[in-house]
Amino acid sequence: MADAVVVGSGPNGLAAAVILARAGLGVEVYEASDAIGGGCRTAEVTLPGFHHDLCAGAHPMAVASPFFRAFDLKAHGVELLAPQVSYAHPLDGGRAGLAWQDLEHTVDGLGRDGRSWQRLFGPLVRKWEDLVGLIMSDLRHPPLDPTGLLRIDPGIELRLLRRIAEQATPLWNMRFREDLAPAMLTGISAHAIRPPRSFPGAGVAMLLGTLAHVRGWPVPRGGSQAIIDALADDLKTHGGRIITGHRVDSLDDFADVRAVLLDTAPAELQRIATLPARYSFALNRFRYGGAACKVDFALSGPVPWEAHGCERAGTLHLVGSREEAVAAEKAVAAGKLAERPFVLAIQPGVVDSTRAPQGQATLYTYCHVPNGSTEDMTEAITAQVERFAPGFRDLILATNVRTAARMPAHNANYIGGDISAGAMTLRQTIFRPAPRWNPYSTPLPGVYLCSSATPPGPGVHGMNGYYAARHALRKEFGVLTDPLELLTDHWRI
Ligand SMILES: Cc1cc2nc3c(=O)[nH]c(=O)nc-3n(C[C@H](O)[C@H](O)[C@H](O)COP(=O)(O)OP(=O)(O)OC[C@H]3O[C@@H](n4cnc5c(N)ncnc54)[C@H](O)[C@@H]3O)c2cc1C
Repeated sequence: MADAVVVGSGPNGLAAAVILARAGLGVEVYEASDAIGGGCRTAEVTLPGFHHDLCAGAHPMAVASPFFRAFDLKAHGVELLAPQVSYAHPLDGGRAGLAWQDLEHTVDGLGRDGRSWQRLFGPLVRKWEDLVGLIMSDLRHPPLDPTGLLRIDPGIELRLLRRIAEQATPLWNMRFREDLAPAMLTGISAHAIRPPRSFPGAGVAMLLGTLAHVRGWPVPRGGSQAIIDALADDLKTHGGRIITGHRVDSLDDFADVRAVLLDTAPAELQRIATLPARYSFALNRFRYGGAACKVDFALSGPVPWEAHGCERAGTLHLVGSREEAVAAEKAVAAGKLAERPFVLAIQPGVVDSTRAPQGQATLYTYCHVPNGSTEDMTEAITAQVERFAPGFRDLILATNVRTAARMPAHNANYIGGDISAGAMTLRQTIFRPAPRWNPYSTPLPGVYLCSSATPPGPGVHGMNGYYAARHALRKEFGVLTDPLELLTDHWRI
């Protein structure tokens, strides 16, 4: 009999499982799919030899996360390759805003807005670890821990809040005189799949924009699956077991297990357990939000971007000006398809030659669509890429599409294609998934949520798993040591 069970093998489920196993507990992970990894998998879905990231493709959060820094992906054989240009934002007419990993280089390319960019991101870049400690906290406790990986400088809160308040309100253009820098900011804020001028969108823009100039937006050699495989190997080394192809339908199966951690959407918890009415009512109020339609391309060669510098970018935001991005995202928020949608593209081949046969390339894309959309967006996405890379169509060898409506069949957490497992509204950023001081615990004894439906929200950073495991260790097993210390191999119960 296992001491602890984890339901779901996404990055958060495995992060929690690794921590529990390193604490000396017997751990079993049950995964519904035949393959492990949840939103962090890689597979040949177009043609043989073309390796596509099925969900997460770029990893600014993994490289910065306190959990993964303590775990040390590099020591576990994961090579994170950071393109020189973290993200590019092309505009019509062959121009593009380029976020180089080097902040000064970025500033030089932004003309009259260079100094404003410097003033916006410079102070955050200098204190990036504090910024990460704050945004990747559980949003309840001061992020202090003995390893120092979660420590923060009190001044960072003010600097961050000032910038969020600026970018979330009508003041958002006040420091800019040209069009590239505002377009770039809108592109990164759109990762939240919220209207770009919103508090969560601005928070995401500040985090991702800062990380672009610190450790970049890397892709793992061979694909995102490498991160998952490293976690799974470590779990097995510490005695853990993973059972795939096993969808958990009832928590009664684990009645004798001391701790059950669910890497699932709250709706899945409601499906598999009987919950007190009050908590269930709170979960019913949890909203699933804007979704994605994912399209992967196998190409006969690299994308022929018109704007100089895009060929060095790992990630590209394809939508055009700030106004066009706002219009596209407003349409999605209103439940409509955007005529020219916001497209996020990743070209891992810029740094990783293993993704496609020699001379050929993969292109990862998704666009934002309303929740539950059945629309195949391949043509709309192709048109947006072609707009900034004339000749792109001629390179297409094969495509693979996953509509928003089909996302849950791939991963039950993405309800209606919501890739955040719950809309990132201001309310749901804090009260995720319900208004509770401890968002990881549930009213059921020994049952915890550890998925991205808890703080600090979506992304491959493992922090939700870390916090949930920390609570479970303390409450169920009396282990008070911080899990980050367990990752450094110094300690066992
Ligand atoms: C299209 C797309 C693009 C993305 N791009 C990025 C990106 O570039 N960078 C980034 O950092 N993040 C990205 N994300 C977000 C990121 O993938 C997720 O936030 C992250 O994977 C969440 O991890 P998790 O462990 O909470 O859950 P998941 O990764 O969703 O894993 C949950 C697992 O639980 C399993 N499960 C659910 N219910 C059950 C059950 N009853 N029984 C057994 N198993 C169950 C599922 O099958 C799944 O494997 C993207 C997501 C999507 C969908």
